Amino acid sequence: MSITFVPTPDVPAIDASVDHAIRSIVSGASTDATCATDLALGPWDFDTRPGYGPGSSMGDVIPTGAPRQGELPASYREAGEDELDHRIRAAKATLGDRVVVLGHFYQREEVVRHADYVGDSYQLATAAKARTDAEAIVFCGVHFMAETADLLSGPDQAVILPNLAAGCSMADMADIDQVEDCWEQLSEVFGDLEVVDEGGRVPVIPVTYMNSSAAIKGFVGRHGGIVCTSSNAETVLEWAFERGRRVLFFPDQHLGRNTAKAMGVPLDRMPMWNPRAALGGSSTTELLDSRVILWHGFCSVHRRFSVAQIEKARAEHPGVRVIVHPECPMEVVDAADEAGSTDYIRRAIAAATTPTTFAIGTEVNLVRRLAAQFPQHEIFCLDPVVCPCSTMYRIHPGYLAWVLEELVAGRTPNRITVTADVADPARIALERMLAAKPPVVAVP
Ligand code: SF4
Repeated sequence: MSITFVPTPDVPAIDASVDHAIRSIVSGASTDATCATDLALGPWDFDTRPGYGPGSSMGDVIPTGAPRQGELPASYREAGEDELDHRIRAAKATLGDRVVVLGHFYQREEVVRHADYVGDSYQLATAAKARTDAEAIVFCGVHFMAETADLLSGPDQAVILPNLAAGCSMADMADIDQVEDCWEQLSEVFGDLEVVDEGGRVPVIPVTYMNSSAAIKGFVGRHGGIVCTSSNAETVLEWAFERGRRVLFFPDQHLGRNTAKAMGVPLDRMPMWNPRAALGGSSTTELLDSRVILWHGFCSVHRRFSVAQIEKARAEHPGVRVIVHPECPMEVVDAADEAGSTDYIRRAIAAATTPTTFAIGTEVNLVRRLAAQFPQHEIFCLDPVVCPCSTMYRIHPGYLAWVLEELVAGRTPNRITVTADVADPARIALERMLAAKPPVVAVP
């Protein structure tokens, strides 16, 4: 895979800040809408509550064992935007090459502007691997991303997640105990899952999306499976179909369905696995006839996009080019002009040589940043409601300032470590993905 890192953008002329937009809505200065007015509060107000906080995944269930963030000291909670910006810059300057800051595409603008690299989760984990000189890797993303960076970084490098409560509701939908239970039930249907048929294929190959815990990646590695990203899912499924008669795909049903459908797999051969139902809610016959068993997981951010939004965009903006992320529901992907990963979306916009109107179906922080970076185009989010990923939103600049100043003081806060029994098979699953050599999808 050819990886292109996006350099940290200069502060754009157009205000890309979702935080500012939400505060304008809350103050009444803007007539736009947000999905949760308490997004304007500090995320520390929600760290002790059993939910993901305000935003598009707030209704999802947070696992009881998920790490919780300790109280952020008052000097960070009470500092204004300019003071935090100054403190982050000062701490980074003091630390120099000893630290590298990674910012996910969906991260808020006030954090991304301090990132040495901006990208999707896999690009950032690879960037961490390349910075062997950095003692500390501060990952401004969510928990599974920091775990992946720990898998790929050196043993002496500390991966730090500024707010431990920044999980991912989709990743948390595939719990390792549920997946182990599913595997056991599948072995009752298909027999020994290690035995190959006359064509050299086992009954089931497990495939996990990058957006899953290290425990799930380890499970996949132990059982002959592989990891995929939204950029290479088709290549990975081809790899899996060469080795197995069917695929168990988790956690995102939409990425699995959209990819397999594009490869010609009929919808009636893609049963859903509901972890709370016996045999996942399917019959033995349905499972025996399946090609892809889809885990009942989804992204609350991408589930917000609808066909009605696309129809409205087309009615109001004739000639609009609609690009959505493959985590969106199938009907939305089918109705769009194109579907692709965050990197694909960015490259598609960068490659447009004439002024174009783009309606984008992905997280609003990225869409607003793209609109600011490419002012020659009109770029807007398909969802008119300002509703960022609530888990990603927990990385407030206050947490970034705190972890950097802790590092300056010689302490290493919020270190994310994957134990060797999980890390070794998880790396095998990642290495299989790299060996599959997926191409970068060309943009039209
Ligand atoms: S956008 Fe969706 S998949 Fe990505 S971190 Fe947020 S909840 Fe998870």
